[in-house]
Amino acid sequence: MPDKTKKTAYVRILIWIVCIAAVLFYFYRCPMEYFLGIPCPGCGMSRALLAFVHLDFIKAFYFHPLFWLVPAAAVLWILDRLHIFIFSKKIRQRLLLWTGILFLLVYAIRLLFGSPVTHPHFRQSVLGHLFLGD
Ligand SMILES: [Zn+2]
Repeated sequence: MPDKTKKTAYVRILIWIVCIAAVLFYFYRCPMEYFLGIPCPGCGMSRALLAFVHLDFIKAFYFHPLFWLVPAAAVLWILDRLHIFIFSKKIRQRLLLWTGILFLLVYAIRLLFGSPVTHPHFRQSVLGHLFLGD
């Protein structure tokens, strides 16, 4: 890869990382939780990543047990974008499928065992206000 193209790729990656981090940490609020009062399978991930950035792995695991998938996926994505390690379409599809299955499995376990992070609160949601008032 030519130097100018590589430099452009690095700048794009940096811009993506900054934009995603800004959205996650400052503006994002789970739409499913906001409207339905039921947390989604990804709920707690931003708090987990914030704890991860502060090297508090226990707190990160508490907020979302799959927090480690995000930095791992980021590293794989960067390697792919820089053409250091290129994944075939088949491998990408399998990784996405297994990631989705893992998220749903962890979501079910967190709901079944009553994790405070995924505790539903219908009354505070938009739908709850529409149906229950106050
Ligand atoms: Zn959510």
